[in-house]
Amino acid sequence: MSSAQDEDAAAALIEWYADSGVDEAVGAVTQSRFVETAFRANADTQEPPQVFNKQPPSNSQPKRPTTAIFKPTSSPSPDESVANAREIAQTCETMDALIAAIHAFEGCPLKAGARNTVVCDGVIGADLLVIGEAPGADEDRLGKPFVGRAGQLLDRMLAAIGRSRETDTLISNAIFWRPPGNRTPTKLETEICRPFVDRLIELNAPKVIMLAGGAPMQALLGITGIMRARGTFREFEAPNGTRFPTLPVFHPAFLLRQPSHKRLAWEDLQTLQARLRED
Ligand code: URA
Repeated sequence: MSSAQDEDAAAALIEWYADSGVDEAVGAVTQSRFVETAFRANADTQEPPQVFNKQPPSNSQPKRPTTAIFKPTSSPSPDESVANAREIAQTCETMDALIAAIHAFEGCPLKAGARNTVVCDGVIGADLLVIGEAPGADEDRLGKPFVGRAGQLLDRMLAAIGRSRETDTLISNAIFWRPPGNRTPTKLETEICRPFVDRLIELNAPKVIMLAGGAPMQALLGITGIMRARGTFREFEAPNGTRFPTLPVFHPAFLLRQPSHKRLAWEDLQTLQARLRED
């Protein structure tokens, strides 16, 4: 990264802090800096994540999957599409296989209108998994999640707690294809993608999941009302029985429209960071 880019990133981070009401170098809660120093010293001695494996760029061919690929002979019913997705997802034993299987899947009607399949970006196996709603126009064009304005804000939010998709965070969505005109995904589209999202969570086994917005919260936790639900951890139980602490937060696109809510978002990020730091 050039020093001009470093400066831009630092300026954007400071702007995020200022918008969030962070204008002093002290927190609302008393903290022991001695404990923090010990934590950092420990963290420095730990190995970086084992696998650093990004989604193939949108213009490259996905790897041949090691699992069965869904090839429709006639149009499947909605129930068949969900069942097919479940069957395929469960046979994927690695993230490479899962990513390839999602790219090859033809059972979601959204795929017909999308330019790209958008699965994930970041560090496979990271302890933090962020799940958003669905790709927008920029994501559809580039084949990567959260690369537009909302994505840039998400990156700044993560940077504010010392995280990034380059080093220790994996980012995905509840839906893998852009809904036309960015409309809200239907229940059926969400149900068809869900087995793949479940499997992505199982294969990554993150320490914490952050759900960005009401749509992924409803898809995974079955609850509505992000205003009340944000900032409180709930448990997501994957089909294999593993439970994951899951924190709903405001979607960055909402924060772009309602910047006054950045204060609450900042509180939520600190809640998230505290959980990530727990043993
Ligand atoms: N909004 C989302 O929820 N996901 C993206 O990938 C981009 C914008």
